[in-house]
Amino acid sequence: MTEHEHVRVAVIGSGFGGLGAAVRLRREGVTDFVVLERADSVGGTWRDNSYPGCACDVPSHLYSFSFAPNPDWPRTFSGQEHIRAYLEHVTDVFRLRSHLRFNSEVKMMTWDAERLRWVVETSSGTLTADVVVSATGPLSDPKTPDVPGIDTFPGKVFHSARWDHDYDLRGKRVAMVGTGASAIQIVPSIQPDVAKLTLFQRTPPWVMPRVDRPITGAERWLHRQLPFTSQARRGLLWGLRELQVQAFTKRPNELGLVEQLAKRNMARAIKDPELRAKLTPSYRIGCKRILLSSTYYPALAQPNVDVVASGLGEVRGSTVVAADGTEAEVDAIVFGTGFHVTDMPIADRVVGAEGKTLAEAWGSGMKSLRGATAAGFPNWMTIIGPNTGLGNSSMILMIESQLNYMADYLRQLDVLGGRAALDARPGAVDAWNHRVQERMKRTVWNTGGCTSWYLDDNGVNTTIWPGTTTEFRGATRRVDLAEYDLLRPPPEPEAAPKRRTKKRVEAGA
Ligand SMILES: Cc1cc2nc3c(=O)[nH]c(=O)nc-3n(C[C@H](O)[C@H](O)[C@H](O)COP(=O)(O)OP(=O)(O)OC[C@H]3O[C@@H](n4cnc5c(N)ncnc54)[C@H](O)[C@@H]3O)c2cc1C
Repeated sequence: MTEHEHVRVAVIGSGFGGLGAAVRLRREGVTDFVVLERADSVGGTWRDNSYPGCACDVPSHLYSFSFAPNPDWPRTFSGQEHIRAYLEHVTDVFRLRSHLRFNSEVKMMTWDAERLRWVVETSSGTLTADVVVSATGPLSDPKTPDVPGIDTFPGKVFHSARWDHDYDLRGKRVAMVGTGASAIQIVPSIQPDVAKLTLFQRTPPWVMPRVDRPITGAERWLHRQLPFTSQARRGLLWGLRELQVQAFTKRPNELGLVEQLAKRNMARAIKDPELRAKLTPSYRIGCKRILLSSTYYPALAQPNVDVVASGLGEVRGSTVVAADGTEAEVDAIVFGTGFHVTDMPIADRVVGAEGKTLAEAWGSGMKSLRGATAAGFPNWMTIIGPNTGLGNSSMILMIESQLNYMADYLRQLDVLGGRAALDARPGAVDAWNHRVQERMKRTVWNTGGCTSWYLDDNGVNTTIWPGTTTEFRGATRRVDLAEYDLLRPPPEPEAAPKRRTKKRVEAGA
């Protein structure tokens, strides 16, 4: 058998999740690890999304690592280039560069049940790892709809997450497809420059004003000199969002008041009643992600913008045709149509103990134990796995909870000693998912009357966490060994020459 380079941990991805995992591994004293990244720099989401207007929609002081506060955020909602620079800075400060392997796309990882390790095949070679931490991101593989006739389009076509900066949109007739979080940032950024903007809207979003402003020099000075002020700011931002969770998860009707505020936000900018009607959602606010913008509606009110209340149905040469038959001649089509979320591509590339891929194991829907591990995939865990997404707060809070879980998982393996692997018990996975889905029943995401990207093809919400970030922190503080089977390697051939089978014992026993 070919011997490959072996590491204790292989982390996949170098966004907030992968870099956070790397810092945490170092803090736990684990230095024998690599971070495999398909691109040629760190940043994940914030490297790939560079469209005009790209910024976070959770305030920067909360959308950053608790262990790496940044007193110098330039705005309350910082832009993509600043978040990307922050992640580069984290990489340097925590000396992660020596662990990074760029241009290393993971093509396949296969569980070696004999040696209790993962064989990880990448575009830059193969290695083996005791543990794999997959931080490939929930929103990292763009999804573009299969529009009939798109091949006949003579102009430019690209996805918001792969913006073509060489193409000059100035003076062009542009079709923007989609009205999600990216689209509502792109529309006001390009509207003043383009000749015509035709927006294809399948479902209107609820949009609340975004209170974005530069962070003053005095504030930054204060945060630098007295770091607790920055922590207090973060604490306040976090606390306010924790208080909102009850309305999302238990009392969606209370959100009616928020709808009134959102309608007022629209009415301030959109005076045409016909356009207002097109832009008014018919589902409960919060069912889809609430979007924040103070410039989206004013841009839609401009004479060079047409809102088509229908999805893009077909392309005939340079004519784009909506599902409702509306036609427009355009020079470029920009897809703001989201990502492969409930069908994450990495799941096709993980082959577990039974020889099945994770995608096959998840055939009837993504399922994990505590958002991290999956039955039949020993010593494999994911950051931002199933049901760990948030509708209203910072994903970095969830990532850091998952890093606690990862750290305890490795500690448990150390305590168990020798060569060992933990495999989530199917019963524990089912019990966790049953609890999650029971809680989901009352949430606005399930009852709000919308079809969102939070739901999979079966209509099951496998993406959102139906609770507070505090509850998730509690649920991921420790690994409960009773939820795992402990795997040990089979005895050496000399000791047991007749059979080579893996030994499975109850970890909690
Ligand atoms: C435009 C946009 C705005 C957002 N704004 C917010 C916000 O305001 N607040 C919030 O909480 N969340 C926001 N999010 C969600 C955001 O994705 C998460 O907050 C967070 O950045 C995810 O980090 P991650 O490391 O898990 O994934 P990513 O940042 O997506 O990183 C995944 C990395 O894995 C790499 N990778 C993937 N597959 C492979 C492979 N097979 N082999 C090797 N490498 C691979 C990718 O190249 C990438 O670098 C936003 C997302 C988008 C797209």
